[in-house]
Amino acid sequence: MYIGIDLGGTNIAVGLVDKKGKIIQKASTPTLRHRHWSEIIRDMVILTHKVTAAADKNLADIKVVGIGIPGNIDNENGIVVRAANLNMVNVPIAEEFRKYIDIPVNLENDANAAAYGEYFMQDPHRDNFLMVTLGTGVGGGIVIKGKIFRGFNGAGGEIGHHVIHEGGEKCACGRLGCYEAYASVTALINQTKKKMALCSDSLMHQWAQQNGAINGFTAFDCARQGDTAAIEVRDKYITYVSEGIVNLINIFQPETVVIGGGISFEGETLLAPIREFVKKHEFNKQEPRTQIEVAKLFNDAGIVGAAMSAKKQKFL
Ligand SMILES: [Zn+2]
Repeated sequence: MYIGIDLGGTNIAVGLVDKKGKIIQKASTPTLRHRHWSEIIRDMVILTHKVTAAADKNLADIKVVGIGIPGNIDNENGIVVRAANLNMVNVPIAEEFRKYIDIPVNLENDANAAAYGEYFMQDPHRDNFLMVTLGTGVGGGIVIKGKIFRGFNGAGGEIGHHVIHEGGEKCACGRLGCYEAYASVTALINQTKKKMALCSDSLMHQWAQQNGAINGFTAFDCARQGDTAAIEVRDKYITYVSEGIVNLINIFQPETVVIGGGISFEGETLLAPIREFVKKHEFNKQEPRTQIEVAKLFNDAGIVGAAMSAKKQKFL
C-alpha cells in the first residue's frame, strides 16, 4: 500500500492507494494555507492515520508516502524550496512528516504528480508522455521513458511559460506572450469578455446573466447554439491551445499528450480541432504520430500520481 497526498492551496487530500494505482480510501481537510507549515504537515499525518484505519490496514502496510506540492521541490532532500501559495520557503517536509510516521517520503511538484498519475493509469501504457493542464494557469508534466522530467534543479517542465506571441499578453510570471497568457481558462475568460464588449447582441451576454458569471464554458456553450461571436472566441482559443501543443510535440515527440483541467470536459469539441491543427502543423509528417486525449482521473490524478511516483522513486 502507498499513501498519496495532494497538498493544494484549498484542500489537503490524502489517499491510500494500491500498487495498481487504485484509491482504496480517501479523506481531505481544508489547507488553511496561512497557518504555519508544521500544522499543515500534522493534518497530513492525521489524515494518513485516518485512511489507513478506515481500510483496516496498519502503518506497517504502507511502503512509501508521496506528496504533491504546488511549488519548487528538492526531490532528493525532501525539501520544498519555494511554494508561494503556501508561504513555504526551504521547508523540510519529508523530515517533519517522518517525526510522526517513519516511512520514506517522496516529494513531487503537484503538476508533475498529476501528470504521473495520468501517465501511470494509461491504457495501453506508453512510456513518453506529456500532460497539459488548462486551468487558472497552464501547468503540466513531462514523462520521458517512464521518468518525470524535472530539470537539474527541479524547476523543469513549466510548459505554461514558453512564449507563443512575442510582445503579447502579460503573463503572471512577468513575461509577455507566454502560452499560459493565451491558453489558460483565465485567458479564455478574458478573450470572452473582450469579444462580448464588442458584440452587444451576442448570446454570451444572456448566457452570463443566466449563469451568474462568465466562465470557461460561456463561449463553448454559446458556440454550440450557433452564436458567431462565441464561435470566433472558441476557435481562436483552440488555436492558441493547439499552437503550444505543436511546439511541445515538436520538441518531445511523446506517444501521448493528455489535456486536463475543467475545459477538457468539452471532449471532442476541443480534441478534434486540436488533432487537425497538429496534423497540419507539426514538423514530423510520418506515422505513427502523437495521440492526443483528455485526462481521465481529474481530481484523483494528484493522489494517484504522488503515490505511484513515490513508489517508482523509492524502487518499491
Ligand atoms: Zn509566463
